[in-house]
Amino acid sequence: MIKTTDKSKWNDWRWQLQNRITTLEELSKYIELTEEEIEFFDAVSEEYPFAVSPYYLSLIKDPKDKKDPIRLQIVPSPLEIDENAQKNSHPNALNEETFIKGLTHRYEDRVLISVTSYCGVYCRHCMRKRIFKEGTHATPKELLDVYFDYIKSHKNVKDVLISGGDPLTLDNERLKYILDNLSSIEHLEVIRIGSRVPVTLPQRLYDEELLDILSKYDKLWINTHFNHPNEITEDAKVAIRNLLKAGVPVNNQAVLLKGVNDDKETMLELMRKLLSIKVKPQYLFHCDPITGTIHFRTSIEKGLEIMDYMRGRLSGFGIPTYAIDLPGGKGKVPLVPSYFKKLENGLYEFVAFDKTKVIIEETLK
Ligand SMILES: *Cc1c(COP(=O)(O)O)cnc(C)c1O
Ligand code: SF4
Repeated sequence: MIKTTDKSKWNDWRWQLQNRITTLEELSKYIELTEEEIEFFDAVSEEYPFAVSPYYLSLIKDPKDKKDPIRLQIVPSPLEIDENAQKNSHPNALNEETFIKGLTHRYEDRVLISVTSYCGVYCRHCMRKRIFKEGTHATPKELLDVYFDYIKSHKNVKDVLISGGDPLTLDNERLKYILDNLSSIEHLEVIRIGSRVPVTLPQRLYDEELLDILSKYDKLWINTHFNHPNEITEDAKVAIRNLLKAGVPVNNQAVLLKGVNDDKETMLELMRKLLSIKVKPQYLFHCDPITGTIHFRTSIEKGLEIMDYMRGRLSGFGIPTYAIDLPGGKGKVPLVPSYFKKLENGLYEFVAFDKTKVIIEETLK
């Protein structure tokens, strides 16, 4: 559908960004929208911006299919601004940030910083969609310096999460500035970049200069965000391979989304495909009650059922931790199906992978 004949342009991340689809008119050329979507397009996208790279849009298989998992993640839905649909939600349910704008220090050893509010693609389910209204821009250098000073003066911080927006949409010079500063802080042991670029703009990771920069930092990891097997394409595979070649390990943090991946087989296939491109599934997040996204929420029971299905069908290292982030900044809690209980007389009952029950005596005192 949407292809330039010029492969070198298509593979250039700047071309992908310059040619993002941002209007109703353009979008209607490529996919069939519902009457409601057309009617509410302006109202929704004024509240929460719309933009998609030609690459990510091209992953929609059937332009008529309203249930396509890529389509659900990018097309503005009238539900996003429907008060009834969004009741019991909060724009900042997780209470991010305290006294420095864009810096969240919740767990003693970890700090999260926001280095841009720009993304290649605006995901409809984004937990930070509140920030996009303020405009999409890189965090000023003066504020970055405040973050670096904060981390320098907090020796208990071992791990920094570079977040946004999408940090890998920044230019190489700015990324180098951030990474140079952070890697010079001796007490930092881990530097993580949270980026959806491997999913929505893999061409960014065809940039040799960027790969060369990333290869210089020993402590660097990438957290990415694949949600559906259809996102694991040849291009995504090349992007991941380039990161691995540069010595950067990649973990995945998926979000459980109604209609997109709240299905046992889909989730199992996603995890399998991630392993096949050497991405470690780290988290499966329960969808947060963030205003504008709550229509993607499923029940915890559904999530547990999916987790239980994957057990025994997939190697343990392919199974992510299913977790919920508690409102009000109370942090992440793992959600685990219950596989054992304590009986009388020091006996324990376990549920085996084939669902048989096994009772054993606790021998270790
Ligand atoms: C999720 C999160 C982290 C990182 O948690 P991990 O479990 O280490 O991935 C750090 N800070 C904040 C505020 C977070 O929300
Ligand atoms: S790329 Fe990440 S930060 Fe940007 S809109 Fe998507 S989920 Fe949100």
